[in-house]
Amino acid sequence: MFDLDKLVRPNVRVLSPYSCARDEYQGKEGIFLDANENPFGYLNRYPDPYQKELKEAISNLKGISAEKIFLGNGSDEIIDLCFRVFCRPGIDKALTFSPSYGMYQVSAAINDIEIIKIPLDSDFMIDYKLTEKYLKDEKIKLIIICSPNNPTGNCPGSSAILKIISDFTGIVIVDEAYIDFSDKGSLISYTRQFPNLIVMQTFSKAFGLAAARVGIAYANPPVISYLNKIKPPYNISTINQKAVLQKLRKLSTYTGQVRKIKKERARLSAELAKISCVKKIYPSDSNFILINVEDANTIYKYLVDNSIIVRNRSSLIDNCIRITVGTRTENNKLLSGLKNYKK
Ligand SMILES: *Cc1c(COP(=O)(O)O)cnc(C)c1O
Repeated sequence: MFDLDKLVRPNVRVLSPYSCARDEYQGKEGIFLDANENPFGYLNRYPDPYQKELKEAISNLKGISAEKIFLGNGSDEIIDLCFRVFCRPGIDKALTFSPSYGMYQVSAAINDIEIIKIPLDSDFMIDYKLTEKYLKDEKIKLIIICSPNNPTGNCPGSSAILKIISDFTGIVIVDEAYIDFSDKGSLISYTRQFPNLIVMQTFSKAFGLAAARVGIAYANPPVISYLNKIKPPYNISTINQKAVLQKLRKLSTYTGQVRKIKKERARLSAELAKISCVKKIYPSDSNFILINVEDANTIYKYLVDNSIIVRNRSSLIDNCIRITVGTRTENNKLLSGLKNYKK
């Protein structure tokens, strides 16, 4: 049985959160002499700690109620907060799949949490049979699944993911940072059915706001309250909240860019297939393409020498390079660079 309070670190369960001035008085109008702010100028006031206006806008966009939304200073902050809510340092464990996003491991290590990594199969899909035995381990409090997965680019299997969420009594985070580039649907609506599910998205990729550092978690209100309880009070700056609001007011920019990137992804894959040093192109549901090449280290260095920077992922997957889909001009430069590569 899923028991949220039992999963939470005991110190977090009993914690009285910091009450900031903006918590005590919620009105918008008034003479504000409560937060030791400078009364003059622009950006002189502390930001809304719960980002109400922004959450309303996201709620309208996604058709999910604002009380099921948490915003972090990037998804990276949300990952860290989840470790700090659910995993006791040196005692509890988390589980993820390999290869995947490096930040899960780093965040776990910072929090002194052991992370178990289950290998994905040769098509980078989740092997449920390999995972199953771990679902009973009571020390494992958190499972993190990246879908579409970074750096492989594919969705690792929605039926396996749903089976894990339904069979596991701890928390499951599904990181959907790249979901906008995929034709497979988001799992957000499954939060209605699963109290242990946290779906994470971000404004850093498809929305083009990596510099603004705004990540989103969708979950049921009891989970959201725990995240709110331990977050730094003013974790999203006013400027960053405004940047996202502005982007959401003109969604055509976002949809147009996503369409363009997906089109370029298809063209880039087709063109890469014609190049002799490229051995394999993996299918992508993301804004990047993983390729297998003859000698990743030499090719990576050769591209860097030509001012083309890609990500060498050979330490994770033998002779693999991850290429972000850029503009048409950028992609053409990469393609001609690879075409001119000589062993
Ligand atoms: C880029 C990326 C993110 C986004 O992180 P932010 O902190 O929101 O910028 C999250 N998860 C994965 C797997 C990513 O590749």
